[in-house]
Amino acid sequence: MKKLFRFFGSPAGLAVLVIVAAITCASIAATYLFKLIQTDVEDRLVATLEASIHQARQSLEKHQTLARYWAENPLIQAAALAASNQQSSDSKTQISNAQASLSAVSGIENYRDYRLIDRHGNVILSRPGHDVRRQARIRLPDNLLSQAWHGRTVVTPPFKSGRPWPDKRGRLTENIATMMILSPVRDEHGRTVALLSFELDPDLIFLPAFHHNQIGKTGHTYAINSDGLLLTASKYDQQLRNSGLLNPRQPHAALNLVVNDPKWADTDAQNALTEMAVSLSQGQSGINLQGYRDYRGVDVIGAWRWDNSLGMGVVTETEAAEVYQLYRSILLSVTISIVFVIAITLIALFFYRRKHQHQMSSLHQRDAIINQTDDGFVTIDNRGMIVMTNPAITRLFGYASDELIGNNVSILLPPDERVEHDHYVRHSEIHERKIIHKVRSLQGCHKDGHLFPIELNVTPMTFSHQKYFIGVIRDISERHSYQQALIAAKEAAEEANQAKSDFLAKMSHELRTPLNAIIGFSQLLKMDKLDANQRESVEMIHDAGEHLLALINDVLDLARIESGRMLLSLEAVSPQELLGSLYPMLNVQIQTLGLSFTTEIDVADDCHVYADYTKLKQVLLNLLSNACKYNRPGGTITLRVTTQTDGKVRISVQDSGDGISEKMQKRIFEPFNRLDKTNSKIEGTGIGLAISAELVKLMGGELGFSSRLGEGSTFWVMLSACQPSGHQTDSD
Ligand code: ADP
Repeated sequence: MKKLFRFFGSPAGLAVLVIVAAITCASIAATYLFKLIQTDVEDRLVATLEASIHQARQSLEKHQTLARYWAENPLIQAAALAASNQQSSDSKTQISNAQASLSAVSGIENYRDYRLIDRHGNVILSRPGHDVRRQARIRLPDNLLSQAWHGRTVVTPPFKSGRPWPDKRGRLTENIATMMILSPVRDEHGRTVALLSFELDPDLIFLPAFHHNQIGKTGHTYAINSDGLLLTASKYDQQLRNSGLLNPRQPHAALNLVVNDPKWADTDAQNALTEMAVSLSQGQSGINLQGYRDYRGVDVIGAWRWDNSLGMGVVTETEAAEVYQLYRSILLSVTISIVFVIAITLIALFFYRRKHQHQMSSLHQRDAIINQTDDGFVTIDNRGMIVMTNPAITRLFGYASDELIGNNVSILLPPDERVEHDHYVRHSEIHERKIIHKVRSLQGCHKDGHLFPIELNVTPMTFSHQKYFIGVIRDISERHSYQQALIAAKEAAEEANQAKSDFLAKMSHELRTPLNAIIGFSQLLKMDKLDANQRESVEMIHDAGEHLLALINDVLDLARIESGRMLLSLEAVSPQELLGSLYPMLNVQIQTLGLSFTTEIDVADDCHVYADYTKLKQVLLNLLSNACKYNRPGGTITLRVTTQTDGKVRISVQDSGDGISEKMQKRIFEPFNRLDKTNSKIEGTGIGLAISAELVKLMGGELGFSSRLGEGSTFWVMLSACQPSGHQTDSD
């Protein structure tokens, strides 16, 4: 039962209900309409039949009355008596008088003939032109004749005339349908002495009555006798002849056609009459609205009645197709409408199902994503109660979904943070900006009580006017431990670096004391009288000592810089002044290598830069020394001082050496890296540029270079300009 309710609640069930309702409504409407049409048709059939019979009777009675009137007419009576008394002189006159009157009546009423018949059946008089003796007797049913001789005016049913009469087209035709009205002519004692007969065309009576009372174009009213013989005219004479149901030589169907059902006519069936004729042959009346075959084999509906006064059965029929045409059209329209409704419903159902399937598959996809993701999804209402979780939550926190739903979400947090979290949720509108769409790192609390680091991202959602929050929880234990390890490694590296710098600083300091003694004593020794070998050895000791001291100073500088202990004395330094002191120091080297040295100073005389005089001198010496060392023999060195558009002062050293390849350029400031000069004869430690760059940085400036292989290099220092009076000491 539940299944049934569920089915009818579904779109397919609703579609079935719509279709069933449409078919039921249409069936009820069609049945009601059919009943309505049937009732109307029944009323019209009965009314038509009654009207036809009534008019036929009236017409017949009129002619009977006329016949009675003339039978009682003294002229006719006198003629009859005269003929019976055979008073030859009088009778001729009286007969001709009577003949004149009856001819006038016949002419007016369109009768075919009139006769006065004596007891022996002899014709006393008839219409002029008709040979009296040749038609001595007329053959009529005995009972009708005897009724007439007993004083009643009688009417014969239509019968085949013994004489030819003009048909409708005026042609003389044998065996044509005719009728007679017989009325008794009495003498003064009331005895019937003769019969007055009027012979007339049956159409005179039945055509007006039947022709004007029929339903629709195919309507047809006619009369038959108890044997099913058609007594009155048929409107389908030609159709009957064409279909072979009527002999082509017969002038018309009346009196020549038995109203058989053509379906049975060719068989040996005992009674092949139509359904209507069978009923009338049994003297019954009836009506058939369902349809039956008429004498043409066409489906008709009809009403019929046996009428004793007419002595015939009268039937009115009409083709079922015509009567029910409206019904059929409406039925067709209703059927088309129903088919349309069904088609629309099915199409709508099809599209609905397709859309539904799309939605379902995307829902399943979404569910699959949410259920299979490693991130936990927890949905809470605005009171912080859990309404939905995904399987990842169970994996992360150890709680089954049932244990969480309906519980406060703070159950997933460390116990000491639960109260605070509750406060957050209850006042979410205040804290929303801090929480919503922000990734926060928190501690999660597992069911077994252990805490673990989580990342939480909260998104608000409104569903059915209710506010919810979706929390996406990620276990970051692994990342957390990596981070911790990295921090520890960094700290260890920093400590080790510091220790190295400290060691270098100490060692350099400790090395310089004995080294100064070596250099000092070797200088003293040089002043003594020494032979050539001794002098050479002492000079080698002195040079090696100087080289070692320079190296130790460099290492000490680097160690100081790395450990952040390098102290600078920043002040306004005049570049011209500083450069002037450099040349003498490089003179020997320049001369030895055969280089040409040019200075281009393009700054104001009072131009000053903000720098440490000694350190800047050290830097520029290093750059000029490199320009000499790595130059080609007889090359050039250009020292330039320019002011930049941004107000800074640029001091550059350009050489015409081999230059530095692009690949090497990236590593030029790495300490102790001599690039491709490691194995060359040119002396060097690979530490000068590293120290220079750091020193310039400490002065707030920048050291850079540009170089092309085979063309030479330009190293430059960019420093801030300052007022000559500007003096400041900076210490780190
Ligand atoms: P070094 O004592 O080797 O000169 P530096 O730190 O001064 O150490 O220079 C590092 C390296 O950069 C040098 O060994 C050399 O290969 C390259 N270098 C420096 N200046 C120039 C220059 N002007 N032309 C070509 N190469 C240079």
